[in-house]
Amino acid sequence: MITNPVPWPNGARVACAITFDIDTDSILHLEHRERAKSLVSAMSWLKYDEVAVPRILAMYKKFGLKQTFFYPAWCMERYPHLVEAILKDGHEIGAHGYLHENPNQLTAEEELYWLDRQVSIIKAMTGAAPRGWRAPLYNFSEHSAEYLARHGMIYDASLMGDDIPYVLRTPSGDVIELPSHWAMDDWPHYTHAPEFHYSMPIKSPDEAMNVFMSEFEAMYANHGLWVAVWHPFVSGRLARCLRIEQMIEAMLKRGDVWFAPLEQIARHVKACIADGSWSPRVDKLPYYTEMIPELDSYPGLQRAAQ
Ligand SMILES: [Zn+2]
Repeated sequence: MITNPVPWPNGARVACAITFDIDTDSILHLEHRERAKSLVSAMSWLKYDEVAVPRILAMYKKFGLKQTFFYPAWCMERYPHLVEAILKDGHEIGAHGYLHENPNQLTAEEELYWLDRQVSIIKAMTGAAPRGWRAPLYNFSEHSAEYLARHGMIYDASLMGDDIPYVLRTPSGDVIELPSHWAMDDWPHYTHAPEFHYSMPIKSPDEAMNVFMSEFEAMYANHGLWVAVWHPFVSGRLARCLRIEQMIEAMLKRGDVWFAPLEQIARHVKACIADGSWSPRVDKLPYYTEMIPELDSYPGLQRAAQ
């Protein structure tokens, strides 16, 4: 069903990446500003990251996995001991905003300012510029792709437009898109968070895993890309994390599943494009630079939005 699969290394059937976005309490300060300091219970729910990140690192070590963590730069500054532990174990850190700000609510100049700022913090704290980015809450703007290209980032992990990598072409260069989608995010499966007006019926780890593994089986059968978008304070909770451990064990047992950090997957894709062993689908961005003219010509269409 995938007509143009990427030739994964060593004949692997599927490329897999478990990515954790370490948002911690950045999202609470952004959402509630003055009130955040009083919302201690919500804060404690988010600060569970301090328990979950070391647990996740120990799990990866047990299986010999290297993976990618996306980090708002403010959280890196606030919790440097977690950054150190991640780097010590050889994992990748990707950019994920400064305070998890939404690029769709910023001007083009503001978006660039906060991207510059997060890149310089990552450089200072990790010794290298980030190779990839995930937009906070998938809020990728019409300018984001070009800004990533200008910063020399090789991949993005925010969009949902395919089952396999594709290329985002911008006037400043190409960026490899490593797509995922909402079913692979842990919030819709597990999160009840009244402070964020986000309330989903909480699934058991087996029920959530059933969704993640259906996605895996389809990607395995069709040589696709499987990218989990998880959060330590959500999926790093004990019962869920134990279920993830069983999942990794089952996947590795197959012998032809390639787990890698997203940087490595993106570099492999670029190498296949360069040596001609694979040709990507190319999307030119931005898709639109203004409102489509049909809306102006037929005012009734605007009234008919709902
Ligand atoms: Zn996030």
